Amino acid sequence: MRVIQSLRRLQVWRCRMGQQNPRIGFVPTMGALHEGHLSLMRRARKECDLVVVSIFVNPLQFGPAEDLGRYPRTFQADRKACEQAGVDLIFFPQVKDLYPSTFQTSVVVKQLTQRWEGEIRPTHFQGVTTVVTKLLNLVGPHRAYFGQKDYQQYIVIKQLVEDLSLPVTIIRCPTVREADGLAMSSRNRYLGATERELATVLYRALSAGKKAITDGVRSGKKIQQNMMRLCKKHPELSIDYFTVCHPLTLEPLTRVDREAVLLGALRIGKVRLIDNIFAFLGSA
Ligand code: AMP
Repeated sequence: MRVIQSLRRLQVWRCRMGQQNPRIGFVPTMGALHEGHLSLMRRARKECDLVVVSIFVNPLQFGPAEDLGRYPRTFQADRKACEQAGVDLIFFPQVKDLYPSTFQTSVVVKQLTQRWEGEIRPTHFQGVTTVVTKLLNLVGPHRAYFGQKDYQQYIVIKQLVEDLSLPVTIIRCPTVREADGLAMSSRNRYLGATERELATVLYRALSAGKKAITDGVRSGKKIQQNMMRLCKKHPELSIDYFTVCHPLTLEPLTRVDREAVLLGALRIGKVRLIDNIFAFLGSA
């Protein structure tokens, strides 16, 4: 497995690979790798000839009051995990190389980024779409793998790739969860023991919303209230949003008479958690 830091070296590598025409699978990450990330790498390993992982804590996608400074950086452990997952190359660029002092361009997906995460984190998606565009240009993959865990991000990136006619297929991979349902996340390590126990409420709330749909509730508002009810029992939580929405437009549904995605975000102390699940009419 190779580790490349320099953009120039990566471009040379990509050029050389181009002559052999391998199918390249790409998994962009911010490191602090866990089973969720590894599942993306394994999927890429199955479907592609070469697997490239990027590890880059992207400053552009953090707001001024967010956790950029204390975001976990665990490169040595990440490197081992990548090696075990059969990764061929880690791209591990430095901030000054991806964003030199002359940098002044950003990529914006206008509509899909307005709601939900975009409302709470106004500069977040612009940071994500800008870095993902750069990374896709540098790595030149045939397929890029994203987790359902960050569902809005996945939808935004699909739109970006379509709008800019980028020659890559975006693959959505299922959310990997702990045994008690909590979606794995690099930020889970910030949770203290009591907070960790409380954190399962997010998945339980989304599951309650899904059950309401299965049980025949059709009012979007009632389903939303159903999800929030569980959380409101815990005053130590603060809710950012719960919604039941259209899986492609992410617009809230007043009546749920088709497949829907349930999105939720809350804070426990300083830790912010997001999650989502699909609900199909009549599904168990
Ligand atoms: P991050 O390092 O948080 O930027 O995540 C990198 C990629 O891993 C993104 O596509 C995430 O959606 C995905 N990911 C993170 N957590 C999970 C999880 N629990 N299950 C599946 N994919 C995940």
